[in-house]
Amino acid sequence: MIHFGRVVHRSDAVVDDRRFAQLVKGLAQDPNTVDTPDGDLRFIEGLADLPIGFLRSFHITFDGPSTCGCGRHLSAADVVGSARRAEVHPRELITRTPAGVQNVVELSDGGRRGACLACGREFLAASYWTNGYAYA
Ligand SMILES: [Zn+2]
Repeated sequence: MIHFGRVVHRSDAVVDDRRFAQLVKGLAQDPNTVDTPDGDLRFIEGLADLPIGFLRSFHITFDGPSTCGCGRHLSAADVVGSARRAEVHPRELITRTPAGVQNVVELSDGGRRGACLACGREFLAASYWTNGYAYA
């Protein structure tokens, strides 16, 4: 059984906008950061019952190559799609609050496993972040 993520997040922290902006700025300095393409953002919004255009960006870093063996360029959509198959509601991975107004930081517990949307091959995401939510 693959452990995609916990539903109970004891390691979550809510931070103010300034701290969140600092965290994201630091994360974005990783040269291996992948920007999730617009098409994948819309896919995530669909999975997570979010309004179209809600996600302005969704960045992700991988513990390993960001291109799957099948040739697909992995993105946050692969993490969120995997969570859905594990019956974790995708919204749980993006925002813990209905309005998404809080900045939630989930402390990384060694990375989050996902599976390629195209072929199912597993990968390990090291961190990912979007408006008001970061796993790092
Ligand atoms: Zn693949």
